[in-house]
Amino acid sequence: MDLIGAAVGIVGGAHVERDVRIGDTSGLLGVAPVLARPASAREVSELVAWAYAHDVAILPVGGCSGYSGGVVPAFDGPGLAISLERLNRVRSLEPLLWRMEVEAGVRTATVQRLARENGLYFPPDPGAPEQSQIGGNLATNAGGPHTFKYGVTSRWVTGVEAVIAPGELVRFGGPLRKDVAGYDLRGLLIGSEGTLGIITAAWLALTPAPPRTIPVLAGYGSIAAGVEAVEAALASGVVPATLEYLEGRCLQLAPPPFLAVVPRFLVICEAESDTERGALLEALGEGAFSCEPGELWRWRGGVSLAARAALGEKLSEDIVVPLDRLGEAIEAVLEIGARHRLETTSWGHAGDGNLHATFMYDPADGAASERVQAAALELFELARELGGSVSGEHGLGLLKAGQLLGQWSVAAVSAHEQVKRALDPKGLFNPGKKVPRPAA
Ligand SMILES: Cc1cc2nc3c(=O)[nH]c(=O)nc-3n(C[C@H](O)[C@H](O)[C@H](O)COP(=O)(O)OP(=O)(O)OC[C@H]3O[C@@H](n4cnc5c(N)ncnc54)[C@H](O)[C@@H]3O)c2cc1C
Repeated sequence: MDLIGAAVGIVGGAHVERDVRIGDTSGLLGVAPVLARPASAREVSELVAWAYAHDVAILPVGGCSGYSGGVVPAFDGPGLAISLERLNRVRSLEPLLWRMEVEAGVRTATVQRLARENGLYFPPDPGAPEQSQIGGNLATNAGGPHTFKYGVTSRWVTGVEAVIAPGELVRFGGPLRKDVAGYDLRGLLIGSEGTLGIITAAWLALTPAPPRTIPVLAGYGSIAAGVEAVEAALASGVVPATLEYLEGRCLQLAPPPFLAVVPRFLVICEAESDTERGALLEALGEGAFSCEPGELWRWRGGVSLAARAALGEKLSEDIVVPLDRLGEAIEAVLEIGARHRLETTSWGHAGDGNLHATFMYDPADGAASERVQAAALELFELARELGGSVSGEHGLGLLKAGQLLGQWSVAAVSAHEQVKRALDPKGLFNPGKKVPRPAA
């Protein structure tokens, strides 16, 4: 039987397509010869078992909101894309125990809403929650503004159900708040970008919702003054729920509706009580003020779109640097952009040292696209020079394939490759992604 016949036999003809173009927010696109939409973890395991036995590459597809081309097919030979969208059941929700179990295709926004409706909170908040799926959030170990206080996705996952080679349905962890019996294979699958297996469900930990959320923000006349304010917020003794920054160029493109004058640098913190609000107002200094969270986060969500709309396209990277190098990194991003004659800005999760360095360009201008690629390579070099990493949030995907070779020692690279070989001996899961070189 051929691949298409096998896929139809497992999920039914209505849920199989040929030659499907798959892309994400990176702008990269590829074609999967076959895409199947299984309805259950058992069907995922049957698809993987067939593909593994027949040397067919396997690509897990979530909500396609990724920024790094992780879902873009990069097959050398036959390949099967497996979309998780029909695995969309909430298996359990137990508000009194602060936990839920959901299938991989459940949207991030659904998890957040269900938590909220029960007085609880699921803190990871990557910026496309209506589109991204929990499986994709786990596979990229997604972050977002509130990870400064609450941590990234893995902090909120107590168990992972997944299909691993050669088609086994396994469970690492579960509805347990602690489990140190084995190696942390739960943690290994989280952030693995679909290169070690397919996540089919997750046990999520929730926490009581904070009683209030009060944004506290302030504008500054220079990057140096803004970064000093970030440090003052850190020294205030309060752990703000968010500690974000936006550089002046993106503020010109999407002027904050609650500010009379566009500053050179904006800092946004979030307090969860009046006491915290008072401490943060004092830390951010003269001119700091608070506003309504709804208005602020709606505006903040539109900044990325405004940057894309400026010239038609943009590349937004996600380098991360140690906190003491944040100011240097923000300045250096602007210098790199200027050297390559690109409209440049950045914004990001200041408290995490995580910058969304953004180069804007006209997609019809081939020379500009090439300058963007060259600028991105310098950006990765900058991250390494400052003791940081090429990715704090989006993962490596196709866009940053191979970039880790300059970041890690030979032994560290080899350890990663050995992990890949142990779990995926044939190198069939999402080939060309994550590990520096393809597994042998
Ligand atoms: C406007 C906007 C703002 C964003 N803001 C943030 C942000 O603040 N922080 C942040 O971290 N990200 C952010 N993102 C990026 C993106 O939303 C996240 O990376 C998200 O977690 C991707 O989820 P997805 O379901 O769309 O995954 P996809 O894009 O479909 O896939 C991403 C990777 O995960 C793999 N994968 C997907 N599902 C599974 C599965 N079930 N099992 C195994 N592997 C799987 C894919 O193969 C691929 O390698 C933003 C994106 C947009 C468009």
